Order: sequence, then C-alpha cells, then structure tokens
Amino acid sequence: MAFDTLILNGTVVDGTGKPAYRGDVGITDGKIVAIGELSTSEAARKIDANGHVIAPGFIDIHAHSDVTMLDDPGGESKAYQGVTTEVSGNCGSTPYPAGVLGTGEALRDKQPTHPIPHSPTKWAWTDLDGWANYTEDTGISLNIAPQVGHSSLKRAAGAPFSRPADPDELAMMKKLAAEAIEQGAAAETNGLTGAHFENAPTSEIIELVKAAKPYENAFYSTHPRLAGGWHFKAAEEAVEIGRQTGVSVEYSHIAIIDSRQHGKAEEMASIFDTAREDGVDIAFDIYPYLAGAAGFKSLTPSWVEGSGTESALKMLADPSTRRRIKEEMKGGWWGDMPFHFEKIVVVKIGPNGDRDHLGRSLAEIAESRGTDPLDTILDMIIEDPSVESVMHNRSEQDMRQFLAHPLSIIGSDGTAISPNGIWKVTQPHPRIYGCHPRVLGHYVREEGVLSLESAVHKMSGFPAERIGLRDRGRVEVGLVADLVVFDPDTVIDMSTYQDPHRYPLGIPHVLVNGEAIVSEGKHTGARPGRVLRRSG
Ligand SMILES: [Zn+2]
Repeated sequence: MAFDTLILNGTVVDGTGKPAYRGDVGITDGKIVAIGELSTSEAARKIDANGHVIAPGFIDIHAHSDVTMLDDPGGESKAYQGVTTEVSGNCGSTPYPAGVLGTGEALRDKQPTHPIPHSPTKWAWTDLDGWANYTEDTGISLNIAPQVGHSSLKRAAGAPFSRPADPDELAMMKKLAAEAIEQGAAAETNGLTGAHFENAPTSEIIELVKAAKPYENAFYSTHPRLAGGWHFKAAEEAVEIGRQTGVSVEYSHIAIIDSRQHGKAEEMASIFDTAREDGVDIAFDIYPYLAGAAGFKSLTPSWVEGSGTESALKMLADPSTRRRIKEEMKGGWWGDMPFHFEKIVVVKIGPNGDRDHLGRSLAEIAESRGTDPLDTILDMIIEDPSVESVMHNRSEQDMRQFLAHPLSIIGSDGTAISPNGIWKVTQPHPRIYGCHPRVLGHYVREEGVLSLESAVHKMSGFPAERIGLRDRGRVEVGLVADLVVFDPDTVIDMSTYQDPHRYPLGIPHVLVNGEAIVSEGKHTGARPGRVLRRSG
C-alpha cells in the first residue's frame, strides 16, 4: 500500500486516554487509513517520529480566533502548539450576527469587535454563513469551529446591554441564535461579567439557551457570572441552566480568583460532579497559568466597565461620578474581592500609554507616581483606555486539582495570531502561545500532575466528544488526519508575560486535514483549514 504521508516509529497517544503504544500512521486523501507496522510501505512523504508522540491535533475548546485568523490566516501562535481546531466565538462575542435579520445592515461601526484599527479585514458579512464563506475564501491554516455569542445576539437584536432584553428583543435573539446554529454554530456562548453581570438575568440566558435545544450537539458555553463571593453561585447557575434547558454546558476558563476562596477547587468541582450524577451534562475548561488577563477597565465597577469606553471616560471626567466609582472600588474588585495591587502587572499599553509602565505592578506605579492605587487605576484609564494587565490571582494547588479533574478540558482562552502580523503590537497573555505545551511539558513531564494520555485526551478526544466532532480528536483509522508529532522529553512553552510572542519547543510536525502546516518545526504556509460547522 502506498500512502500520501507516513509517520514512522512513533508512540501513538490516541486521544481516548488509553495507554500509549508503538505504531506507524498512514495517511491518504486527508484521512488516517492505517495504523500499525507500516515500515515497509511506500509514501510520497515520510516523517520519522522516532522518540516522539503521534497524537490527534489539539482542539482548543476555548479560543477567540474568528477575527484574528482573517488577519493572520497562518494562526502561528496556535499552529506551533499543535492546535488544529480553534473553537471560537467564546465569552459572548462573535463577529455575527452583525445586523438585524432581514435588513442586511452591517453594524461594523457599532460592533467593537476589531481592536486593531488598520486591519485589512473587510467586515462585509452579516451572518455566520457570510463570515464562514469569507473565512474559507481567505484560506486558513487551522480549522475553526464557530459558536454564536449572547452579546452579539443582544446587540444585533437592538437591545442595550444596560438592561435585560424585553420579550420582543429576546424573541429576536432566539431567532438569530437558531439561525446561527442552523448555519453551523456549535454552541451559544456568553460572558456574564461587566454589564451582563447585572443586566443579563438567569431567566434571559435560560430562554436564549432553549433556542439551542432542538439541535443535535448544540451546547451552551459560559464565561461565568463572576464577582466576589460568586464562585460557587456561578457554578450553580451554570448547572441550573443546563438542568432547566436540557442543553449540555461548558463552563469556561475555570479559576478561583478570590484569594479568600483559594484551596477550594475540589469543593467547586464537586458541584459539577454532583450535577452529572443528576443528569446534567457539564464539563469545564482551564488554561494552565496562575494569572489571568485584565484590561484596567475591568477593575472598575461593572456599571462603568460595561458602559463602553467612551461613556466610562465621561464618567471618570465627572468629579462626583469619579468619587462614587472610587468609593465603590474601596470595597474591593467586582464587589468585595481584595485587589492585591502588587499582583496586578501592566503588560500592554495603547499608543498614548507610558512605556515605563510595562512589566511593573500597580503598587510600584502608584508609589512612583505618588498617588493612591485606586486613583492610579482611574488616571491610567483616562491616559490610556487600552491599558491592560495580568493579575496573578490563582493558587497553584487549585490549578493542579482542576487540571487533574476528570471533567477538565484544556482551553487557551487565546487567539491564533502571527508575531509578524498586525497583532504583533499587542502584548498578549502567554497562554495564546504556550497553553498546550505548558500542560505537556510542565504539568505532565516536570510535575506529574496528570498522565500524558490524560492530558492528550483533554486536548483532543474529550473536546471533540463535547462539541460533537465525530470524525476528529482521535488517532483512529477512518478519522480525519489532524495530527501533531511532539517530543515528550522536550516539549515546553517559551512564552512569558514579559515576552509573549515566542513559540514553544519540541513540536516539529502538525498536520491539518492531512496536510503539513508545521514541518520540521517551521510553518509551511499551507492553508488546509476549514470552517467546521456543527454536525448533526
Ligand atoms: Zn471569557
């Protein structure tokens, strides 16, 4: 038998969680057609995987690449990690629907989805179909599975974020959601912080999620309603929405960010275990870092953050409103969580920002400016509304327990970008370049927190099953040849908070739909990626 590609001498970690085994993998017409002892077979291309693992390409269940990959179709930050499918449109924001149904009116200006003003991407579509066609016409290296976001639905239905949707608006949101799901959205997503914390009540979410119920495999993905004292309540709300709608739930980027609640990961995860015993189909995703990303605006009360940049700046310019904002912030972050100014580190500034702030903590900046830390936050937003930080607000013990938990899936919460493209001006969280290799190198090899087979399962077979991708996510004859070859002895992330645009090590080969997008550790420039519409 002759193959298009033959990967020889590797150790197969097949994505199911089962023990690794020695095997060769034969690929023809984009599919895995043989696994076993194939060393005497012919092939147009042979890859020597001696000492390496052959695994299913990673499916990043929590990605945000539906806009970035149009600017950077190579998706380098993810391609070099071995990611072959980006599940995008998380946290409620998607670049569609971009107009009220039937009007065909593009709301580019009203849809602040593109933070890079000189993007060459022409915002020409109004629905998921239009976006998908534009994406496939552009040509992308990785596959992308779309979802549809609550914020975008609410905006498209003409409902302001400053109050719950009224019955007519909600009916329109449900209609638009169903339309997006019919066009291929895998899930409805939301982000229940900022304005939505107070103005998107559970009842609104339940009604909207019900629109997904008739569709096979369509699920609900939630960036939880987080605030001081809310960790357990947010988990319970996600469970309750799953219970009342009968729709499967993905709980996004789990973390315990309130220092007073550190050490309670097992207690929190047990909420999901119990729910599953009661028949609610729920899982959660996590990225392996102890810091999260936070725009400075998200340090202000939700009624300020959620009002939009222009309005927030107006509020800060008004002395009495500013006093009220500061007074509220004295109580803590998002209600009453302690701020820990020494753990909030500036990582990104806008064009008017002060470069000296980069890499310094809020405590240090406040001291050098001689201002109170809360005033420093507010002043810095006025000077540079796009200033961003990372907050070192998680505990290592919680991280390990969540990673090892049977219900966790690895999700980067990151974008696929090129360090040479228009997004190079950003200072992203290192998870966008390092999430998956950090799990494999640090938490599997160095720390032994989970087995290699389990980690690969959480990056491939498990997410494929959750989103209903039946023909991907495992190394198995008949499945699509989305594959990664990595060295388990050297794989590691290199991206850091200070110097994020760095590729990981130890991942020489990545194949998407049978075609190499990374070969001998170099991006090939190939664009075999497709939009993977919901199957079912
Ligand atoms: Zn989120």
